[in-house]
Amino acid sequence: MIYADNAATTRMSEKAIHVMTQVLQETWGNPSSLYEHGQRAKTVLENARGEIAALIGAEAREITFTSGGSEADNQAIRTAAEIGRSKGKKHIISTAFEHHAVLHTLERLKKEGFEITLLDVHENGLVVPSEVEAAIRDDTCLVTVMYANNEIGTVQPIREIGEICRRKNVLFHTDAVQAVGHLPINVADEPIDMLSASAHKFHGPKGVGFLYCRRGIRLVPLIEGGAQEHGRRAGTENVPGIAAMAAALRESCEKMPENAAHLIRMRDRLIAGLSAIPHCALNGDAEKRLPGNVSFCFEGIEGESLLLMLDDMGIQASSGSACTSGSLDPSHVLLAIGRVHDVAHGSLRLTLGEDITEEQVDEIIGAVKEVVTCLRGFSPVWRDLTSGKKPFIL
Ligand SMILES: *Cc1c(COP(=O)(O)O)cnc(C)c1O
Repeated sequence: MIYADNAATTRMSEKAIHVMTQVLQETWGNPSSLYEHGQRAKTVLENARGEIAALIGAEAREITFTSGGSEADNQAIRTAAEIGRSKGKKHIISTAFEHHAVLHTLERLKKEGFEITLLDVHENGLVVPSEVEAAIRDDTCLVTVMYANNEIGTVQPIREIGEICRRKNVLFHTDAVQAVGHLPINVADEPIDMLSASAHKFHGPKGVGFLYCRRGIRLVPLIEGGAQEHGRRAGTENVPGIAAMAAALRESCEKMPENAAHLIRMRDRLIAGLSAIPHCALNGDAEKRLPGNVSFCFEGIEGESLLLMLDDMGIQASSGSACTSGSLDPSHVLLAIGRVHDVAHGSLRLTLGEDITEEQVDEIIGAVKEVVTCLRGFSPVWRDLTSGKKPFIL
């Protein structure tokens, strides 16, 4: 089996499993309890916070633990909206290809009277900083742009966008769920006010993540209750998950240079191999993309059939994001970069893991070539294209 869907989730590292098991067995006290067993859990929790903070260049008090990336996105955007509302600023800027955790939160705010500007993304899958600048108004309270896209893997000009926001005195949030643990991030050096991350995208457990929030910005809690997380998020902390997240992030950051170099080599080999298939196109910029992300559109086929046939051949991939798999609508990300419906339907996302080998990459190339040829053989759309009844787009 070749697992090539690491953007959906990753396998937990041995180290993270070990740390999690150890905490479950030995440090299962409630970190809010004052007796020794509770205080030991508290120490585990605060050590994890300190470690995660250090790994991204933050201070421990700037890290709030959440149930994952979606919650962190919701809380960051809600916080900026509340701060904006209190100042009469109710305009938010984002992009058309964000994760639904961002887009749906913005839709909700729109119903509450906020005005939302969703910037177009260019064909190369990149947001243009000058367009962000042009969209900022006196009543803009937040700009939120993802660090790296989860479907097409493009890495955004975060520093430039952040600098514009800082100059214009507008809060800047980035959904960095695909970037943390995969790209070097240092919030001490990058003009980012809030940043979301999720453990299961960097070999940690599911259901745990964190929100970095720059000192001086008061987070608005989404969950009310006890005083955990300095009143920013009520509920007994997921101590085993948090400890495992810290271990996974440390490992990912330590191995990042060597992992990235290997992944880029494998990614580019895969891209070169798949590009030989006629009437296909790489989605997103070839260079400004995540080390392990390969995303293609193939004309004249259905992505869903492609996935099922690859699965039969032992290759696990995705057509886009896990969230939209199973729905018949083409991906909002592919539409945002200008792919027409027919083309967007024939999409394939392969997101490689660090242990991928050259032989496996070649196996994927062979399998995709075979499946695409086979599906085109049955496809009425392909017949129309080859007979000249319909023009090729790719
Ligand atoms: C996976 C993902 C999320 C959601 O994270 P969860 O921890 O699964 O809630 C948000 N944004 C991006 C870009 C993602 O890839």
